[in-house]
Amino acid sequence: MAKKQFKAESKRLLELMINSIYSQQEVFLRELISNASDAIDKIYYKALTDDSLRFDQDQYYIKVIPDKETRTLKIIDTGIGMTKEELESNLGTIARSGSFTFKNENEIKDGHDIIGQFGVGFYAAFMVADVVTVISKALGSDEAYRWESKGADGYTIKPADKTEVGTEITLKIKENTEDESYDQFLETYRLKEIIKKYSDFIRYPIKMDITKRRPKEDNKDEYEEYMEEEIINSMVPIWRKNKSELKDEDYENFYKEKHYGFDKPLKHIHISVDGTIRYNAILFIPEKLPFDYYSKEYEKGLELYSNGVLIMSKCPDLLPDYFSFVKGMVDSEDLSLNISREMLQHDQQLKLIAKNIYKKIKNELQSLLKNDREKYEAFFKSFGRQLKFGVYNDFGVNKETLQDLLLFYSSKEKKLVALEEYVSRMPEDQKFIYYASGESIERIEKLPQTELVAEKGYEILYLTEDIDEFAIKMIMTYKDKEFKSVSSGDLGIDSDEQETKADTEQNENKDLFHYMKKVLADKVKDVRVSKRLRTHPVCLSTDGEVTIEMEKI
Ligand code: ADP
Ligand code: MG
Repeated sequence: MAKKQFKAESKRLLELMINSIYSQQEVFLRELISNASDAIDKIYYKALTDDSLRFDQDQYYIKVIPDKETRTLKIIDTGIGMTKEELESNLGTIARSGSFTFKNENEIKDGHDIIGQFGVGFYAAFMVADVVTVISKALGSDEAYRWESKGADGYTIKPADKTEVGTEITLKIKENTEDESYDQFLETYRLKEIIKKYSDFIRYPIKMDITKRRPKEDNKDEYEEYMEEEIINSMVPIWRKNKSELKDEDYENFYKEKHYGFDKPLKHIHISVDGTIRYNAILFIPEKLPFDYYSKEYEKGLELYSNGVLIMSKCPDLLPDYFSFVKGMVDSEDLSLNISREMLQHDQQLKLIAKNIYKKIKNELQSLLKNDREKYEAFFKSFGRQLKFGVYNDFGVNKETLQDLLLFYSSKEKKLVALEEYVSRMPEDQKFIYYASGESIERIEKLPQTELVAEKGYEILYLTEDIDEFAIKMIMTYKDKEFKSVSSGDLGIDSDEQETKADTEQNENKDLFHYMKKVLADKVKDVRVSKRLRTHPVCLSTDGEVTIEMEKI
């Protein structure tokens, strides 16, 4: 039997596809502008190899023109245009990308600037328009053509008049419905906003006519309105600039502009990777805790760009939970623009970038700890708690990554110290890393349990936050040294002499202890002679894993 073609209800298919890729209608503009930018790029690449072509930057731009009266929105570009055949194949075939073919055919090595590759973006126009008209004149052609479609029902192509090379797309914007306002896509301020949000770093100027007011020439008390063409996008993204050209201030301004936070970032990390995977990133370590950080309103994530075009405002997959506080953006040429959230999650490239990023953050924090202690402590004050949760969470899988970033108050140094520092100065006869938990440093200082350890001259880490002891218990051993609470039954420092003395005392006063235990009944498990007290008469201690502080929690 002859092979049969699948039949598809193309209208339904188109709707399904568009709706599964795009969660917001406003992205239609991003898609059309990206195509326009690609079209200009193509002339640029052609000019590189064709001497008869000159690429004069000023000639190339994208213009967006809304018209409320006719309910139309025009997107005009001076790019390479499309021939009749190209209109047919590129816009007449869903999932055919002329840009992808162009990249391959022209063997453009660094053609990764060209955004298109999926061949579906254009159809996003049908989310907001009933009719889409494309008038295009291709480079080197004398004729222009008009492609028109009302959606998946089909399209028509006719000859048209157009003198300049390039493409003009006209969207007949849908009427408002009860749930959706399409009028917004005819408002200049709203269009400006959308362009800024998604297409700010398109490399060619995106222009709009803006209505302005000025005092009249002849009568300064009266105002007149006039139109002025403005470039809406900032074009060169900071992350594409050379690091050596940029000052701290530039990064701080970027942090503010992007509303990453109200504080001044403690540190920025500018990454440019050009290997098997290519990406640029600018990351910030904030100084202050965002007010909602520990609430469920707080969303972690980095901005994700594909070639300077925003794909997602907060891509959570780029950051592990324990680095949720990091702000910033990632731009990769290797990511596809029109890709759904679900697909993105499984994207191998994205996973590689995420892995890369988490290493960079870790290294940066480590070097901050080493080289700028004051800054690191400021950071730790805000986000140390997060790191400790990171150690504890997921059954400790990340403890190796994070343990060297932790700081605890030291009984000896009277300041925050790292575990590494503690262990490096342990006397030879000290077997354990000692810690004491309590509500505050002052209260821990007064704990009778600390006496013997302190007397031995051993350093004690003071754990004052709820999470501390849980994190420590999760780490279990650091550089082969076990952690030990000063209130645990066996401190591991008793000398034989003390041992015997305590045993004797215990025996001699058996009845007294027995009586004490009876009086305290279910409040304590046992009453014993202590080997660790010096000036205090009595203290509480625990057997087993769970200490008194943990039990309180
Ligand atoms: P993609 O951009 O992923 O290739 P689109 O659906 O957005 O997919 O566009 C399909 C194709 O139509 C593009 O690859 C390009 O060849 C062509 N095209 C779309 N818009 C324009 C334009 N403004 N100028 C020239 N060609 C265009
Ligand atoms: Mg496209």
